[in-house]
Amino acid sequence: MVVRRDSAVGEQNPGGGKKPAKATKSAPVKKAAAKKAAVKKVAAKKAATVKKAAVTPKGQSAALKKASVAVKGTPPAKSVAKPPKDESRTALVRRARRIDRELAEVYPYAHPELDFENSFQLVVATVLSAQTTDLRVNQTTPGLFAKYPTPEDLAAANPEEVEEILRPTGFFRAKTKSVIGLSKALVEQFGGEVPGRLEDLVKLPGVGRKTAFVVLGNAFGRPGITVDTHFQRLVRRWQWTDETEPDKIEAAVGALFPKSDWTMLSHHVIFHGRRICHARKPACGACPIAPLCPAYGEGETDPEKAKKLLKYEKGGFPGQRLKPPQSYLDAGGKPAPPLGAG
Ligand code: SF4
Repeated sequence: MVVRRDSAVGEQNPGGGKKPAKATKSAPVKKAAAKKAAVKKVAAKKAATVKKAAVTPKGQSAALKKASVAVKGTPPAKSVAKPPKDESRTALVRRARRIDRELAEVYPYAHPELDFENSFQLVVATVLSAQTTDLRVNQTTPGLFAKYPTPEDLAAANPEEVEEILRPTGFFRAKTKSVIGLSKALVEQFGGEVPGRLEDLVKLPGVGRKTAFVVLGNAFGRPGITVDTHFQRLVRRWQWTDETEPDKIEAAVGALFPKSDWTMLSHHVIFHGRRICHARKPACGACPIAPLCPAYGEGETDPEKAKKLLKYEKGGFPGQRLKPPQSYLDAGGKPAPPLGAG
């Protein structure tokens, strides 16, 4: 994989720190040494800041405080430590887990962003989320589940009526076919219950591994990695893997973490991708994991400009869910508006 390097960030030494800028031949040796010491001092200060953040007690105020520090504080800027080119497997595992721990502190309320009350609703909502936002799905499913609350109801539905309800989610004809088809399969093959095994779930119409893992992780408490568009982008930026196919990414990233971390890891990464590390304009200057990120500088590094790119609860943005978990509301998160409310 070609690794994009930002010239402002500089090269990496084998120890993981940033190489100081080369002194010109005419510069006195003393001056170069002083410069080197100054760079080291700033890098050490940064590392200390991250370490301090890592031991901040969990909870709402700590999370809010940390995010606020990330936004308002000194930019990670030119002293950001990049992982060395020849990062060992052990170092990669440590860095990956540290990123996840940092994100767990920033988003202690991370959760699946589809509204659901049972496994049937979750599998249907996940199928509907293809090629659209979770918000749009959440704004559409209340009408769908009010009319068809069980697999039996949806299996017997008139497709044209379902299409009308699903129209706002896009690809509504194909999605109608999938949700009616999967409801029929649930009724005919699984007694109207959503199965809790990967091999059964992936046989349902419209259900691939990604959907199956969302369902297993969030409705059955079985560890699963959700490789969606955000997850793919971020793990590549972090150089966790060079793989490009979702199944291979899932295997490569899964090998860096204990299984028990997989579901929450997926939520942390996806939350970060939606709120700070955007596809086109990552807010690097307001990113709390910048010191651990090889792609720092791919986005805006000026803290004030970066702050304006943030799209999340701490900036007053509503979330994706109309009915978010209480922990999210307690942290100052706002529910999304219903369809047609703006
Ligand atoms: S926002 Fe920038 S620094 Fe943060 S994870 Fe994304 S690319 Fe890295």
